[in-house]
Amino acid sequence: MDYFPIFVKLQEQPCLIVGAGDIAARKIPLLIRAGAHLTVLAPEISAAVLELQQRHPEQLQMRRKTFSAEDIQDHALVVSATSNADVNSQVAAAAKQRHIPVNVVDAPELCSFIFPAIIDRSPVIAAVSTGGTAPVLTRLLRARLESIIHPGFGKLAGLAGKFRSQVKQRIRQPRQRRIFWEKILQGPVAEQIFSGNQETAEQMLQQALQSQDSQQLQQGEVYLVGAGPGDPDLLTFRALRLMQQADVIVYDRLVSPEVLDLARRDSEKIYVGKQRQNHSLPQESINVLLARLAKAGKRVVRLKGGDPFIFGRGGEEMETLLEQGIPFQVVPGISAASGCAAYAGIPLTHRDYAQSCTFVTGHLKDGSINLNWKQLAAPNQTIVIYMGLIGLRCICQSLIDNGSPRDLPVALIQQGTTSRQRIVTGTLGTMPDIVDRQQISPPTLIIIGNVVKLRQHLAWFKSATKTPPTIPQPT
Ligand code: SAH
Repeated sequence: MDYFPIFVKLQEQPCLIVGAGDIAARKIPLLIRAGAHLTVLAPEISAAVLELQQRHPEQLQMRRKTFSAEDIQDHALVVSATSNADVNSQVAAAAKQRHIPVNVVDAPELCSFIFPAIIDRSPVIAAVSTGGTAPVLTRLLRARLESIIHPGFGKLAGLAGKFRSQVKQRIRQPRQRRIFWEKILQGPVAEQIFSGNQETAEQMLQQALQSQDSQQLQQGEVYLVGAGPGDPDLLTFRALRLMQQADVIVYDRLVSPEVLDLARRDSEKIYVGKQRQNHSLPQESINVLLARLAKAGKRVVRLKGGDPFIFGRGGEEMETLLEQGIPFQVVPGISAASGCAAYAGIPLTHRDYAQSCTFVTGHLKDGSINLNWKQLAAPNQTIVIYMGLIGLRCICQSLIDNGSPRDLPVALIQQGTTSRQRIVTGTLGTMPDIVDRQQISPPTLIIIGNVVKLRQHLAWFKSATKTPPTIPQPT
């Protein structure tokens, strides 16, 4: 180990920065955040540093002079940030002589300490360093850590700190205490913190503590999670985290196998998929199932394709839970409209072609398609139709009957965002016949509007299924 990582308390500590140019201006905010009292020493002070001083007058003072060795005295930490190699060496030598930690920016050989990349979730802090060898790698590692250390970790640590002694008093056995904390820090209490419900989290922790054997933590919870349109890379961090903690995953047909594969290995997976006409589990039974699992103390992820609140009946499922007093959360997902449009190279709005975009369902409860055709046939808009394949002929004809041009472009996207994505294009006049001649496999999304033309230039995603972009032909 070339450098030993330690965390230094700099609150109200006098620190010296030699140099007052751009390099100094980059380091100053970090030390200010750590609460240090800084003296910036240089013959000339840059505008950037002066601005910092105006913002933090109590923490930042200036000394306009050239450096000499005695300036080092009485400082807890020294940073040399000048572009003058001689001055940098003098600062390093003076600091080392007095055993004061010194960093010379961009000169590792002169440093007695180096700045790591910091992930700040105070009081949780993670620091990464490659020992000055590969700054880009440091940045990449930091980005990864940023994504897995939830922004709410600071609050979670705060909660643990607040209850620490109380828990210690109540649960005397260290092993029992560890199990208790493990449950708190990765269970429903943590999720409440991450959702910003500090008060609820504290209540739950209190209850768990009262029952001592942590029975209260046995209460289950349901997470209604949007699984996105298919590509697992389009999941949200929260969706992934909850899927990896879940005891049970209740999923349906639209959830792609690749997404399901990311769930916790030993979680129970229950399929409640619906095929058109062939409901494998009626909605009522799904609602009851979710409530029953949660009451048995399970953490249930109800995984739904796309976004749960867009043609997902998510609202209905949550109503049952609400009635029965079962806690739940909703995690949005990328809806088929956004996913398919992006992967097909069709912007849903465009200044020249569409000032609005409407999502409609092509499949109503009683099998009819009863939409506001007059409104949908108006120009300068995009219409996205979910569940529209069976009704496609009726949809196209109704739009034409209500004034849409026959040559208005239409795209049908099959299994959008997956490696099986396939796109068929045509116009209101031609599309029904074109689709009749193709073998189409669900799910499919239909986009109608002049924005479909943009696909000619913007199609970027290459799926395994070959579909050269076709230009809609006027009829
Ligand atoms: N909640 C989902 C929609 C559920 S309705 C969402 O927000 O995306 C089911 C319909 O969504 C399907 O019939 C189809 O029209 C559309 N759909 C979902 N995923 C799709 C995909 N990957 N490709 C094309 N259409 C999709």
